[in-house]
Amino acid sequence: MIKVFKFGGASVKDADSVKNVFKVLDIYREEKIAVVISAMGKTTNALERLLHAYYYGTDSLEEEFETLYNYHFRIVEELFVETDHEIYGDIEEIFQSLKTRISSPHSDNYDYEYDQIVSIGEIISTKIVSAYLNMAGMENIWVDARAIIRTDNTYRDARVDWDKTDELVKDSMPFHRERVYITQGFIGATSENISTTLGREGSDFSAAILAWCLDAEKVAIWKDVPGVLNADPKYFDNTIKLDQLSYHDAIELAYYGASVIHPKTIKPLQNKKIPLWVKSFVEPKEKGTVIQSDREGLAVPSFIFKMNQALVTIAARDFSFIAEQNLRDIFHELSRLRIKINLMQNTALSFSVCADWDERKIPELMKALGDEFMIKYNRGLELVTIRHYDQETIERVTVNKEILLEEKSRYTVQMVMRDLDCIIE
Ligand code: ASP
Ligand code: MG
Repeated sequence: MIKVFKFGGASVKDADSVKNVFKVLDIYREEKIAVVISAMGKTTNALERLLHAYYYGTDSLEEEFETLYNYHFRIVEELFVETDHEIYGDIEEIFQSLKTRISSPHSDNYDYEYDQIVSIGEIISTKIVSAYLNMAGMENIWVDARAIIRTDNTYRDARVDWDKTDELVKDSMPFHRERVYITQGFIGATSENISTTLGREGSDFSAAILAWCLDAEKVAIWKDVPGVLNADPKYFDNTIKLDQLSYHDAIELAYYGASVIHPKTIKPLQNKKIPLWVKSFVEPKEKGTVIQSDREGLAVPSFIFKMNQALVTIAARDFSFIAEQNLRDIFHELSRLRIKINLMQNTALSFSVCADWDERKIPELMKALGDEFMIKYNRGLELVTIRHYDQETIERVTVNKEILLEEKSRYTVQMVMRDLDCIIE
């Protein structure tokens, strides 16, 4: 049986972390493993800055390039003492092609340029890790994800062609011949071989795609936390690690902003009943959290915050009721502007929608609907979603908050709130 392991940026952020990847894999010495790796540390953010500098022609371009170059070579030097190891040439070559790219004129498609440049982070990290593991005695084959993850050309949010990908993955990872394959998360390519990306934090999703294609026995996401917690430790003390979670709960939590797993990850796994483990790369022998089945409900209320929300309230100018026709017009604009609805509610005279604040999209929406509707909005709000809520948890998360909108269903309560501490009089 095949396992799919995913190592995120934090698990390969420096030379010691890369050595730790070896230690984790070494626990599974006999197993067949497809390993998916993200860009090292905060490389993707750095590449986004580099792209921005390139596209808008700012001064920082050279500096951003140097920083990335030095960061990666420092790791290479620490891992490979023999300076004639071929990894030096390999990484040099990738950086030189990046340099050539950013010294040439760009197209006027920002998203296209993004995918060509930002995808390099994963290529570099996997080259380094693969070479290190080989040197350390763990034989593996490096696979280019752009040759196996086939997508359309929606740059930065590419859609997977599942049939074609299935075929390519099976062909490129013949586990009867090799035990360990290393590939990149986050990236893929079109049928014309043009690089694409699957959206920020998309490496989890890549792992799920591979698992789906390989009919894997399980997926493990290795993280710097002991598993999935019932709340974000950034905002709350006394968080509890969940031993298990249903696919359904995991989807709900991820969708509303729990940062543990990319929301697209769960569905393909659920479809093939492949369990997803979230485990600690610091304590790899600890159990972590398993996401599987749909029988078990959450044992404790779990909640997540989404910050920086806008609440838009829309009412007809002629005070008529909000009827199906109005809703059709409103939804048409929301869809055209690709505004993702986090929560919505309608009353006789108004329709309210909570969405991530976006300085371009929300004003656009107001402009588009302004003739027909009166529109008000609040920003700087928080959306909390509690799965398997109880009164105590509701009280706990609403201390010092004003609730502007609330919706309860059997298992979930969601509230749009204003933090009263933040109001400046
Ligand atoms: N490196 C990409 C990112 O930081 C993908 C990932 O880490 O999942 O968004
Ligand atoms: Mg990441």
